[in-house]
Amino acid sequence: MPIRTFGDPVLREPARPVESFDDALRRLADDMVETMHDAPGVGLAAPQVGRSLRLIVFDLQDEQGSRALANPVLRDEWGEQIEEEGCLSIPGLYYPVRRAARVWAEGFDLDGNAVTIEAEELLARVLQHEVDHLAGVLFLDRLDAEHRTEALSAIRDQTLGLQPVAHDPNRAL
Ligand code: ZN
Repeated sequence: MPIRTFGDPVLREPARPVESFDDALRRLADDMVETMHDAPGVGLAAPQVGRSLRLIVFDLQDEQGSRALANPVLRDEWGEQIEEEGCLSIPGLYYPVRRAARVWAEGFDLDGNAVTIEAEELLARVLQHEVDHLAGVLFLDRLDAEHRTEALSAIRDQTLGLQPVAHDPNRAL
């Protein structure tokens, strides 16, 4: 699926909850996983492929494989981490973002079973980034003022073809 990029209004809309845990949902999740692997990146939210739905997928290339979570909510969070982060919808830009070090996420698997995920480090970062997407929030919104100004000017230069786009698959969400 084509990945929607910065400026596309779907990235700023609050997503609708998943209501039917059916074949169409499983197909969408499969397509999103394929799109994430092709990008490549470690996480993707449905609005990034133009579907305003509370569905995220992620794959940290570990023994857990790729996973999907519908209607995710961050129930609790703890501590703080600051790492460089990027977004598949804002290609080639990586900036330090302050996130909780550990989170507890609740949601549903693709069959509608309730799931709780306790996550730290990169997985905690991925979950916070993707749940933000479902609220129309982008990682740019979480940068300090100086980095945000720099990022917006880099996006402008990219649009004009003045700046090449470099990709870091382990930080692209
Ligand atoms: Zn993103």
